[in-house]
Amino acid sequence: MCGALRASDAGKKAVLMGWINRRRDHGNLLFVDLRDRTGVSQVVVNAERAAIHEKASALRNEYVIAVIGTVKLRDANTVNKNMATGEVELVAEELRILNESKLPPFLPSDTALTNEETRLKYRYIDLRRDVMQFNIEMRHKVAKAIRDYLSGQGFFEIETPFMTRSTPEGARDYLVPSRVQPGTFYALPQSPQLFKQILMISGFDRYFQIVRCFRDEDLRADRQPEFTQIDLEMSYPQAERVWEVVEGFLTAAFAAAGFAIKPPFPRMDYDEAIRLYGIDKPDLRLPAFTDVRDCFSPENLQQLALNANLPVVAIRIPKVGELSRAERDSIKPLFTSKGGAKVFEDFKRIEKNFPEAAAKISAKAAAEPGDLIVIVAGSAQTGEQTALPTHRKVTPQELAIYASAGLLRLALAQKYADRHGIFKKTGDAAKDYRFLWVTNFPMFEWDESEKSWMAAHHPFTSPHEEDMPKLEAGVESLHDPLSPLSAVRALAYDVVLNGTELGSGSIRIHRQDVQSRIFRALGMTEEEAKARFGFFLEALEYGTPPHGGIALGLDRIVMILAGAESLREVIPFPKTARAVDLMVDAPTPVGEKQLRELGIQVKK
Ligand code: ASP
Repeated sequence: MCGALRASDAGKKAVLMGWINRRRDHGNLLFVDLRDRTGVSQVVVNAERAAIHEKASALRNEYVIAVIGTVKLRDANTVNKNMATGEVELVAEELRILNESKLPPFLPSDTALTNEETRLKYRYIDLRRDVMQFNIEMRHKVAKAIRDYLSGQGFFEIETPFMTRSTPEGARDYLVPSRVQPGTFYALPQSPQLFKQILMISGFDRYFQIVRCFRDEDLRADRQPEFTQIDLEMSYPQAERVWEVVEGFLTAAFAAAGFAIKPPFPRMDYDEAIRLYGIDKPDLRLPAFTDVRDCFSPENLQQLALNANLPVVAIRIPKVGELSRAERDSIKPLFTSKGGAKVFEDFKRIEKNFPEAAAKISAKAAAEPGDLIVIVAGSAQTGEQTALPTHRKVTPQELAIYASAGLLRLALAQKYADRHGIFKKTGDAAKDYRFLWVTNFPMFEWDESEKSWMAAHHPFTSPHEEDMPKLEAGVESLHDPLSPLSAVRALAYDVVLNGTELGSGSIRIHRQDVQSRIFRALGMTEEEAKARFGFFLEALEYGTPPHGGIALGLDRIVMILAGAESLREVIPFPKTARAVDLMVDAPTPVGEKQLRELGIQVKK
């Protein structure tokens, strides 16, 4: 193995096979850096061995060769400390050219990266680069650690079909036409959701699968049309039991990558996350909001034209330092106002006009000199608070203010990342990787364009037992944004890392009558529910144990562990933002015959 030669091998015979990473011709001596998966070794061909020296002069980058030789310690002045094999070289005694190579469009040994399109078109060359070899090895190690951990906990890895029928995860389906039954289609699974629930009904009380899922969504930078989930389901769990399993396999996965994280992860209600961070996936590395409404007197609020019944929050970004006028002016464009939210980016002005309030705010937010303080609040023009028939702590009007502040907090943290340095890795995994469970999400989300309620997670999520009466009452007001449905909480949870959602799950509905009621709340008639999910509603009637589970994105986890910037860096054969595979050139049109057999006509 090219990366394995060490000083202790000196004097021994060795055989190396690999690619020519680089060659240097010094006349009498020809040096070849030979590369394989494990690394690079230097091979020396001496002109005294005329036959192989001549053969070696024909070698070019990326040729595949085999060399037999003797390992020799390098002279002290030629030792390369930057190479694991830098103390030795292999003196060639026999050399075989196993294959030649055309001049590649770029070299795996290039230090400057070529453009991504070329990398993806010649992915086999790109994957030879040491970074890609490292990332793919990391992916293997992480997946193996997770498999080993879950197997050790009594989980079975069970496959579920790829050719199936549509399951609702909120995206469009990829369809596969049936030749045998023209005009009908399979859907590729958006997730194995219903199959894993049916596996619980089938008695496999701990299931997992590292499984491909397919969602036809408009692609964002961090999405792929096919992606891999760590999917699991268990019978009879409390949510806490699911969390323990996830914390266990994440600890194993991070250990496989050399990071010692410490479970249990902290937990936070959805409402609290919104109140403190304005988002349902808080980045705990940054300070939370400070509620500063009571730092202003009622007169202050009036003078500032603020709504005293809505939140007034301070965002604090540490160590930003003195801002110039122009820098201060660049804050406002980062602010997106929802629901009449207003921003005060010039704290100096508040200090000047409302010194007492400013002093209280600084103290309450524990601001140090140089910290940036920005205030977000509701404008006095926003209407009265709606009294919701709920126990929800956050009303829709409040949510709008918090959400506006939440987005600004993240934008400011990004903008001043170099100054506060919070995103820099410290080497202490407990500080660098801040995990969080966000729990008790709302069951339903209001869809303004459809004027109806949608499942916030998915329709198989169980509502809170104590919120059942609201569900009951809510089905009477399906098209009302103030319906009691707005207050139904779900037994749903997300696992979040540094402001990124790694996965979501829930305790499921295991009773057919509750499931039917949820379908009704989502505006489905009994017939529609039967047509779409009849098989599942029926299965629920045959002794379904209580069950719950979760799914986490493997690609994203590996991306974080590899320190990569994009999912495409950790997926061997990814697609572009236009969902194209540039190497095989897919998708493509297909022939008339194939279409005819499928009973499909393509409209031009
Ligand atoms: N199937 C869900 C998803 O893909 C995860 C779960 O609820 O287990 O988001």
